[in-house]
Amino acid sequence: MHAQPDTPTPPTVTLVGAGPGDPDLLTLKALRAIRRATVVLVDDLVGEGVLRHVRRSARVVPVGKRGGCRSTPQDFIERLMITEARRGERVVRLKGGDPFVFGRGGEEAEHLRAAGLRVEVVNGITAGLAACTALGAPLTHREHAHGVIFVTGHARDGQSELDWVQLSATAAQGFTLVIYMGVARHAHIAEGLRTHLGGAMPVAVVQHASLPHQRHAVTTLDALADTVRREDLGSPAVIIVGNVLQGLAALPRPAAEGLTAVAA
Ligand code: SAH
Repeated sequence: MHAQPDTPTPPTVTLVGAGPGDPDLLTLKALRAIRRATVVLVDDLVGEGVLRHVRRSARVVPVGKRGGCRSTPQDFIERLMITEARRGERVVRLKGGDPFVFGRGGEEAEHLRAAGLRVEVVNGITAGLAACTALGAPLTHREHAHGVIFVTGHARDGQSELDWVQLSATAAQGFTLVIYMGVARHAHIAEGLRTHLGGAMPVAVVQHASLPHQRHAVTTLDALADTVRREDLGSPAVIIVGNVLQGLAALPRPAAEGLTAVAA
């Protein structure tokens, strides 16, 4: 039998989840892809510690809001990936957390595949997961939560926002809510969620989860607005709502070095 002639690998782009920031939370697969890459497109929320693993000779293109223009247009990002991959470069698209959780990874993968490219996806630890763990709380608990709901607090232009009152009815059946991109709308979100969850429901806001400058507060839906203002919490942050947080405010502060814990 003759050996099959080598079929050329089609141009490939790897969407890599960079995790919440702490480079120790990268998967081995992500680390390998990052080290091999010759062109790396990087979002804002990718931690500096993660970028240290990129080889020096690689071309690094910041494509987030801090990368130059206010926000790099999506079609420019996609065109760049296609051109570089077709040139034979090993293209990695580095995204904060997991590429398929609120990261537009799905849209990018679709467009790249439509252009005839092969797309590989490497999971990362999503911010909501890291945020809960950073507090020492579980996302599910046999007594308090038999599921988790991940939602975005940010409405896409022209589309209607989530119905927070209706969501509070669902969550009241025993789900932990993890809200991404919600700090700017925290007052509105808390108002809706109070309807079925009650004002005393525990809430945590975790900013820069997993990074040395992480800040967080544990409070209640009723006190959320005051807490966010007083502690000056802002983006990037995850809001966690649910009984899995019960008793956390009373726990000793996490011992991680450099961690600023803010008890409400
Ligand atoms: N794909 C990412 C989410 C991108 S959307 C993931 O899986 O984590 C951007 C939002 O993610 C931010 O507005 C914030 O809500 C959240 N986020 C990302 N990194 C974070 C971090 N280190 N700490 C807290 N929230 C974070």
